[in-house]
Amino acid sequence: MASQRQIWVGGVPIGGGAPVAVQSMTKTETADYDATMKQIQAIAEAGGDLVRCAVPRDKDVEALKRIVQKSPIPVIADIHFNHTLALKAIDAGAHCIRLNPGNIGGPEKVAEVAEKAKKAGTPMRIGVNSGSLPKHLHELERENSVEALVQAAVEFVELMERLDFQNFKVSIKSTNVPNTIASNRLLSSKIDYPLHLGITEAGTKWSGSLKSAVGLGTLLADGIGDTIRISLSTFHAEEEVKVAWEILKALKIREKGPVLIACPTCGRLQFDMDTVVAEIEQRLEAYEEPIEVAVLGCAVNGIGEASHADFGITGAKNEGLIFAGGKPLRKVPTERLVDELFIEIDKSLEGRAEVDLLKAAEGAEWLAKIEAENADEMTPERMAALEAAAADGNGDGNGHKRVSLDEEASPTAGRRFTRT
Ligand code: SF4
Repeated sequence: MASQRQIWVGGVPIGGGAPVAVQSMTKTETADYDATMKQIQAIAEAGGDLVRCAVPRDKDVEALKRIVQKSPIPVIADIHFNHTLALKAIDAGAHCIRLNPGNIGGPEKVAEVAEKAKKAGTPMRIGVNSGSLPKHLHELERENSVEALVQAAVEFVELMERLDFQNFKVSIKSTNVPNTIASNRLLSSKIDYPLHLGITEAGTKWSGSLKSAVGLGTLLADGIGDTIRISLSTFHAEEEVKVAWEILKALKIREKGPVLIACPTCGRLQFDMDTVVAEIEQRLEAYEEPIEVAVLGCAVNGIGEASHADFGITGAKNEGLIFAGGKPLRKVPTERLVDELFIEIDKSLEGRAEVDLLKAAEGAEWLAKIEAENADEMTPERMAALEAAAADGNGDGNGHKRVSLDEEASPTAGRRFTRT
């Protein structure tokens, strides 16, 4: 169940149908104002909506006062164990306070923070982590760790409500992906407050991104989750933001910047696609527009499944084709493919797009020739399309025409493969 309630962290709405907000956490000492601001800037430039800073000492609070004034995005103060730091962070102007009621020193101290936050209009994130459940839930944790996590979260929500404080979001975090999914599903069926999602200590950029994509992606696809943070073991916090955006973009939950699609390559590849894709990906980072760019490793399938892309290239050994909106634009030498692609992208975005009909016809002819020469090639794309067509066949008794794989694939069948 999606959250019903909405809170505001600075100028960012969370929950209640607002766009899923991306956050990251600075990895600098917050007391180091310059280093922290530099990292906040990088997070904001990468598309972070919110940033969290650890506040474990008084000197961090001192820096926080200046940080909240200069930060381009709202700042959440991350507090553990010491409730007086939470009180000071509210005074410092933090846009939100994150604390786990279970490790802040008892309900009285939570009440003190809630009272001050209420007066200041400061929202809170209250959370539960799998390694720090209250003692009375340890036995339940051994029997059913998901129930224990959810029970702890619900008890904290009830505590806040008894304190007449509703301006909060909730997080349940675990290093365990299935537990994170199960506990957030269960929690979202019990409360209607906004939820923050994350996998604790997810790991390196590679494994952490995958774990987060699986865990958070599953929940987001269910409509659960209002803010996300990807925890990665890297000093470059902006990498977390980029991963978060890729997850949101993949699920079409939010749009931001270009989408790159690329074939997986196979034995038909005739140019150095690894290098080309990496260069395109890196150059696309400079673009804000939600354009879709496709890279195909060969022209054997024509433009095929990339025909919906705004721009694309498909290459061969010595030359390749630039296409846009499913139509050939022109052939270029393979070593010029990337540069010429970006010339076309820029022209189009600046409203200067023009099609040289002669070059477009040359490109189309080149493409058709390669397709015809390879009409009997059973490429991964053709196999997938045939399987899809076969699955749609008439074996189901609904009168659908059965597609013969042999017939479609056979060069002697006398017809060109048609993509659907
Ligand atoms: S056949 Fe498909 S997967 Fe193989 S290189 Fe060509 S486009 Fe890429």
